[in-house]
Amino acid sequence: MSDSTHNFISIVVPAYNEEACLPLLAQVIEQTFSTTQWDYEVIIVNDGSTDRTGPILDSLASQDPRVRGLHLARNFGHQAAMLAGLSESRGQAVITMDADLEQPPSVILEMLERWKNGAQIVHGVRQDHPSTGWWKRTSSRWFYKVLRFLSRIPIEPGMLDFRLYDRTVADALLSMPEADFFLRGLSVWVGFAQVRLPYRASKRVAGRTKFHTRAMFAFALRGITSFTTFPLRLATYLGLLMTLVSLGFGTYVGIRHFFWEHPQPGYASTILLIAFLMGVQFLLIGLLGEYVGRIHLEVKHRPRFLVARRTSRKPQ
Ligand code: UDP
Ligand code: MG
Repeated sequence: MSDSTHNFISIVVPAYNEEACLPLLAQVIEQTFSTTQWDYEVIIVNDGSTDRTGPILDSLASQDPRVRGLHLARNFGHQAAMLAGLSESRGQAVITMDADLEQPPSVILEMLERWKNGAQIVHGVRQDHPSTGWWKRTSSRWFYKVLRFLSRIPIEPGMLDFRLYDRTVADALLSMPEADFFLRGLSVWVGFAQVRLPYRASKRVAGRTKFHTRAMFAFALRGITSFTTFPLRLATYLGLLMTLVSLGFGTYVGIRHFFWEHPQPGYASTILLIAFLMGVQFLLIGLLGEYVGRIHLEVKHRPRFLVARRTSRKPQ
């Protein structure tokens, strides 16, 4: 640890339409580190913003050599933007955090302490802020419950993408070729020495959330399909169960017919059964489609993000 390069760390911040947050973010990070021994770089990834995030980032980078701007060619999404930032980073440890200061930079210092004590991944675990809406809290809790159950990966509700990675881990993550890069799951899946660090979330300083219900649903589906094929097996189980049930029912009706009485007309039950089976079938076909779609994406081997340009005062 006496090696001076060991004190050099990277902070990766994906930013999509965060013009109002960036100047404050840069300022707070600078203040946080001003009295410490850490030497750092902040890589802000402009994920195809349509507001003034780009020019503001350029001006921040021109004022402070520690700030580097990475402009993606279009909006590639939060996870891809983090991947882009990771691939640019040079620090011995890399911290990913959001642009909106919901994750207080002072927690980074605690993360670094844990890292010095041997942790290779430090998961920031968010304790919900009272301002977080009921729907967002509940839906996120259920998503992680389902994901945990299906994939057997011990991922927790508050494990958003506020995290420290040792260089070894960052390189391991960068070596993963999958198009569907779900960092939130992968960072637990990779192993290494992991610790969790609970923190209290602050309020978003400015701007608005980019994850509304539809985006959250897409995110959840992606998390599940990229980590487990269990839903596919569901079809087999359900098919088997329905076959057994219908066999049993058929036997019962047959016996009743011979020994007691003639079957009663049962339109309601017939229609109910058909509707139910159709529903299940469509659901499972949809699930199959989800996986086939992902295979389709993977085999194309497209780059996961494209860099339009970089801005930095330091010669690269
Ligand atoms: N973000 C991004 N690309 C996107 C959507 C979001 O880079 O397509 C960034 C966003 O700028 C922020 C972080 O990802 O820094 C988390 O987004 P947000 O704060 O809107 O999500 P929330 O905290 O509300 O879940
Ligand atoms: Mg946020």
